[in-house]
Amino acid sequence: MAKKRIVWFENKTQNTMFIKRTKGIYFTQRKRAGNKPFPLTLTMLRERCHRALGQVPGFTAGCYYCLAPLTIATLSLDHVTPVSRNGSHQLSNLVITCAGCNKAKGLMNDEEFRRLLCTLKFFHPVAKNDLLMRLKIGAKVYMKKGKHHAFQSNAAHRPAA
Ligand SMILES: [Zn+2]
Repeated sequence: MAKKRIVWFENKTQNTMFIKRTKGIYFTQRKRAGNKPFPLTLTMLRERCHRALGQVPGFTAGCYYCLAPLTIATLSLDHVTPVSRNGSHQLSNLVITCAGCNKAKGLMNDEEFRRLLCTLKFFHPVAKNDLLMRLKIGAKVYMKKGKHHAFQSNAAHRPAA
C-alpha cells in the first residue's frame, strides 16, 4: 500500500514548491553530515519549515535570526554553531532561517551573528544593506576557496602540548 502523502499546502503549486525545496535542503545537509549522526528526518524538517512559514497557529514564524517572514524560496537550514567549528548535526543545533542570514552568518556562531545584527541596527539602512550584501557575496568566494575549513585545519596543526 502506498504511503499517505502529507498535504502541506492547499495550493498545489505551493505544495509542490515546498516539497521540492525542503527535499533539496534535506539531502544537501544529510550529504554534508557524511557518516556523522543526522537525527533530522525529511518529515521533521518539513514540520519545522511549515511552522517557520507561519502555517501552524501557536508557533513563532519567521527567520530564527532576523525574524523576517519566510517564503518557500527563502527557507534555509542553519547550524547554530557552524559545522566547521565543530557544530553537530543534532536537532538542537539546527534552525530555520532566511537564506540571507544563513549566507551572511558564515562561520559566526549564534551569539556572534546576533551581536552583528544588533550593531547593524545603528547603521544607516544603506550602509547596513551594503555590509550584509558584502558578507553574502563574500561567503560564496570564501566557501569556494575552502577557507571555511580554517578552524579545523588550525586545530589539526596545533602544536602538541
Ligand atoms: Zn534572517
